[in-house]
Amino acid sequence: MTLEAAVADAIARYAARNPASARRAERAARVLPGGNTRSILHFDPFPLAFARGEGRYLWSLDGDRYTDFLGEFTAGLYGHSEPRILDAIRSALERGLSYGGHNELEAQLAELLCARFDAMELVRFTNSGTEANLMALALALHHTGRREVLVFKGAYHGGVLAFGSGEPSPVTVPHAWVLGDYDDVEGTRALIRERRLAAILLEPMLGSGGCIEASDAFLAMLREEATAAGTVLVFDEVMTSRLPRRAVVPDLMTVGKYLAGGMSFGAFGGRAELMSHYDPGRPGALFHAGTFNNNVVSLSAGIAGLRDVLTDEALAGLNARGDRLRDALNRASEGLLHVSGSGSLMTIHPGPRAYNASEPPDARRELVKRLVFFELLDRGHWVATRLMLALSLPLTDAQCDEFAGALAAIVARHRALLA
Ligand code: PMP
Repeated sequence: MTLEAAVADAIARYAARNPASARRAERAARVLPGGNTRSILHFDPFPLAFARGEGRYLWSLDGDRYTDFLGEFTAGLYGHSEPRILDAIRSALERGLSYGGHNELEAQLAELLCARFDAMELVRFTNSGTEANLMALALALHHTGRREVLVFKGAYHGGVLAFGSGEPSPVTVPHAWVLGDYDDVEGTRALIRERRLAAILLEPMLGSGGCIEASDAFLAMLREEATAAGTVLVFDEVMTSRLPRRAVVPDLMTVGKYLAGGMSFGAFGGRAELMSHYDPGRPGALFHAGTFNNNVVSLSAGIAGLRDVLTDEALAGLNARGDRLRDALNRASEGLLHVSGSGSLMTIHPGPRAYNASEPPDARRELVKRLVFFELLDRGHWVATRLMLALSLPLTDAQCDEFAGALAAIVARHRALLA
């Protein structure tokens, strides 16, 4: 059998099993372009759609149960129904929505964030990680009086801040971007020295870009050179804030995803001297609006999560489970696949190493990804089409063992095609 035929066979099984998802896609396509309002969720021949979630599981429209290893691209860290978070949301709803005024929750969540992250002396909330990055960049440009921003090929910092192809996408906001090579210590040092950069924006581990960690040397060089150049160092930790903290402390840090318990959220924070530009009591302050920046549902869910659920031990346990799973998956891969990442975040790559998203596309690698994706679905496991996993707290070692067993079975079935 050829790789193409194996993919076609896996897709035929998928289509036969999911007629309700196919019907949903047809109906949606009449009123949404391509039936879609969130591009990342689309895949051919039609995307899987879900009716409900509970704990570590999702149920498709066709009634099949999937173990959720995607964890909503890291936002689903608590799973789908953590009781303490649902209780906090219910209790917020009972006190009414959208006050159009301040509430007591803003300071409570801000205290929890500033206590958790060394980089945050002061913090502000947004509705998404994208917005948090936009506001952090605006702050850096304003503070330095400069325009250029260094980002890295393969990085994703939001829908309008995407560099996955190695360059700005047509919907990327028109900042004066300078593109560097991720983890290239000397090349990046030279770029910083020859430019007058307002900001350097990066993830300590490329998330969407392939779960590729930056070396300690790279982060230390960025800290040293940014300080010397008067450039604002911004860590986008929308995905990585759940991982063990790195030694380097940035000037600004952006977060989001799970930090509001699974509700919509983003935040940016950092050194008080910088963040004070957003103090509305200051003459000439930067304006940062957002009707839902202090919405009581996100704030309540976030507080319950950080205060009552996500203890240091719980987070360390989750990351240790991820490390064990990654080892097991690499053993199961027999060198035909490679699993990269850190702690509870990982990506399965076709071939012997991790590929940065900005590397030239390769048809064979794409086919292998599709094969593994549909074969995992067939065995009841939900992951991103790019084969990224983000573990959630309700997952246990037993589910991780099942997942590793499923990958081993896929490798055994298709060994000749993967080699
Ligand atoms: N930064 C990173 C590193 C992300 O992974 C994402 C989302 N995947 C974002 C920013 C954007 O966050 P949001 O989708 O909440 O706008």
